[in-house]
Amino acid sequence: MTEPDRKLDRTKLLAARFRAATDRPYLASALYSLTVVESQSVPTMAVDKHWRCYVSAEFVDRLPVAQLAAVWLHEVAHLLRDHHGRASLLPPGQRRDHHRVNVAQDAEINDDLLSDGLPLPADRVDPAGLGLPTGLLFEQYLPLLPAHIHSHDCGSAAHGVARPWDLPGGNDGGSVSEVESQALRRSTAAAIRQAARGRGSVPDGWLRWADGVLEPVVDWRRALTGAIREAAAWAAGAVDYTYQRPSRRSAALRGVVLPRLRQPVPRVAVVVDTSGSMDEDALATALAEVGGVLRAVGIGGNRVTVLSCDAAVHIARRVSTVGEVVLAGGGGTDMRIGIDAAVAVPDPPAFVIVLTDGFTPWPQEQLVRTRVIAGIIGGGTDEPPAWITTIHIPS
Ligand SMILES: [Zn+2]
Repeated sequence: MTEPDRKLDRTKLLAARFRAATDRPYLASALYSLTVVESQSVPTMAVDKHWRCYVSAEFVDRLPVAQLAAVWLHEVAHLLRDHHGRASLLPPGQRRDHHRVNVAQDAEINDDLLSDGLPLPADRVDPAGLGLPTGLLFEQYLPLLPAHIHSHDCGSAAHGVARPWDLPGGNDGGSVSEVESQALRRSTAAAIRQAARGRGSVPDGWLRWADGVLEPVVDWRRALTGAIREAAAWAAGAVDYTYQRPSRRSAALRGVVLPRLRQPVPRVAVVVDTSGSMDEDALATALAEVGGVLRAVGIGGNRVTVLSCDAAVHIARRVSTVGEVVLAGGGGTDMRIGIDAAVAVPDPPAFVIVLTDGFTPWPQEQLVRTRVIAGIIGGGTDEPPAWITTIHIPS
């Protein structure tokens, strides 16, 4: 259908952007930060992370200005919502199918645009049309999508995979840097809040997004992963030189006995609060996360000890798998019992991960050979002492 010599109707395209920016003034600076790049190979409209918007002349001809204005808002939403940055955090298995990621991202954007009365083209992704709830994030839509689904390619700023039409680099005058992108997200979020205070005509999805940008909650999964990886690296660095057996290099250095480097896989203990106040679902999620990170850093099997700590009977019980952890109910918690039991063994763990609701006393003295990471699930009020790495996990 595309005629190779077709000229891009810039007037129409920019009139559509003007219309989008006039109707949604809180998105105007983001819209005007996009640089138009005419492309023969882009099927419709697509963006890259440098805020370059690749446009097909045929697509511009085909759409009325009102629909084109809605597409402008759709494209800039991929950038404001940092879809490519978030896509890079997906597990590799989910990230691989970038078409599917793109559909999930379009679902996150379009329910808001449609509820805002915007006339998106007929072949748009619409969560309600797919029988899915509205108001979710793309990470939540991803597992809910039908098995085989394909839609528009909104470009590398969406799913994060380089496209054939992407211009190289990002140092030319028309491109926006990552620092500038962050500033644009913040100023747009502030403008959205202001607009909502004024006439109250901002869609809920944009308001929730603005709240997330202006008051970010620390992603506990990333924090927990970081803490465990750091502790594992520290444990691996606590290197033990041993002269038990000669190193292979000794053959070349006759008469010199070299120490053999021994880097044992560290032992880890997971101490789980089983008191009645624990949120069972949040605990299961946290345990699954801990298990996943430990496997990812190569600590598994008999190197991991799990203890369920029930203060009511003052017993820390060793269980063979995390699946055996059963919430015991009952009152009070004392995670010191669990931590003591975890380290009171001949070969104590390099680090202990404590999962608790936080309503517990903590050891005041720093442990000598063992690090402690506390995952506080829900709303514990007493902060652990500063020597314990603390991560708050919302329930
Ligand atoms: Zn899209």
